[in-house]
Amino acid sequence: NESPGPEDQFSFVALGGGSEVGRSCHIISYKGKTVMLDAGVHPAHSGMASLPFYDEYDLSTVDVLLISHFHLDHAASLPYVMQHTNFRGRVFMTHPTKAIYRWLLGDFVKVSGGGGDSAPLYTDEDLFDSFERIETVDYHATMEVSGIRFTAYHAGHVLGAAMYMVEIAGLKVFFTGDYSREADRHLNSAEIPPIRPDILISESTYGTGVHEPRTERETRLTKLIHSTIEKGGRCLLPVFALGRAQELLLILEEYWATHPELQTVKVYYASALARKCMAVFRTYVNMMNDDIRRRFRDSSTNPFEFRYIRQLRSLDKFDDLGPCVMVAAPGMLQNGVSRELLERWAPDSRNALIITGYSVEGTMAKKILTQPTEIPSMTNPDTTIPRRLSIAEISFAAHVDFNENSAFIDAVGARHVILVHGEATTMGRLKSALLSKYTSRKGTDQEVKIYNPKNCVEVELPFKTAKVA
Ligand SMILES: [Zn+2]
Repeated sequence: NESPGPEDQFSFVALGGGSEVGRSCHIISYKGKTVMLDAGVHPAHSGMASLPFYDEYDLSTVDVLLISHFHLDHAASLPYVMQHTNFRGRVFMTHPTKAIYRWLLGDFVKVSGGGGDSAPLYTDEDLFDSFERIETVDYHATMEVSGIRFTAYHAGHVLGAAMYMVEIAGLKVFFTGDYSREADRHLNSAEIPPIRPDILISESTYGTGVHEPRTERETRLTKLIHSTIEKGGRCLLPVFALGRAQELLLILEEYWATHPELQTVKVYYASALARKCMAVFRTYVNMMNDDIRRRFRDSSTNPFEFRYIRQLRSLDKFDDLGPCVMVAAPGMLQNGVSRELLERWAPDSRNALIITGYSVEGTMAKKILTQPTEIPSMTNPDTTIPRRLSIAEISFAAHVDFNENSAFIDAVGARHVILVHGEATTMGRLKSALLSKYTSRKGTDQEVKIYNPKNCVEVELPFKTAKVA
């Protein structure tokens, strides 16, 4: 029974997503093996400033890079890592994530290279070359790469999202990525892994916040939209190009189908990617929940073939006359269609802005939630625009709340919990709440340790595991 030596040190470091939301990238290593989890960008920054702190780590030592899902804060710096650093490892993601990654990042290259203050991080060619080298995994199928074993589990959240169980020389680490536990219209909710990990790396987006029940949120959303239309207003719902947008579209489609008086009012899904990405959604119906698969089978029409929602490739084709509902990207109103419409519709008090996603610190979506009386114009930075439209926040972001996260952490049963993907104060509150929940276990062999490291601050834990050949 020797005590652990330096070779038994497990180490964790966040190059991004440590005490913040954005640019997720975490590195775990044990017994000379290294795994990188996610490679995102920060949505409040652009160019090199949006990257994780890649210079702080020797990326040539990374054996395997696992991507949890296609959201930009988890995947958008991957082409940079693969084409512009000394990274030489293998990269894995699920099939739907890879299919969507291709279109989404193509759009990201265009948007981020569009005359902004900084050069794009990579080109279309980089994206194409990286795409060729990405390998795919099936849910529940264990892969092994140079002694590292890993398995993907359903995470809910968005199509293709995965949580990973990673096993290095007998040590088990479970990474949630972004996850949700609530039943939704189209996705399987997150699964509790069948084996108990030694270490859990969990998101902490909502900290100790508790969500209003789903049915109440849906009612609030549809009521607000209905009353806005009745007074002749326009509804703007900024969304990330796809993912949660599809869940909102399913809600709107259902509401329009049961309210004939609304059927003359147009609902738009404005995204240059809509057509390509909807094809991916239609293709991967078999990876969604039983409910949507039943609907797909019974009516033999695809639930993602909408009757009341029309796709809008650009605003040139949009006649802005009378009330309408516009679901438009990007979700945090940084630029693009959603920002242009916000500026156009802000002065009219009949209009409504409905924020349904999580708004990252430093973005327009976050700023506008403070109900400012005027907002800066993007095209003309020296002028401001009066803001009279109403602003509501109704979350469909599909992250766990405190009750769900805390119950999940219990069920997973790890003795070490590393918190990531949360603003510092939010994460600090979650840490305190979890510590007080587990206070009676302190000093026993059931003790649960909670860590909330900042970026580039290493967490080292000694583990003595049986030698695995
Ligand atoms: Zn996400």
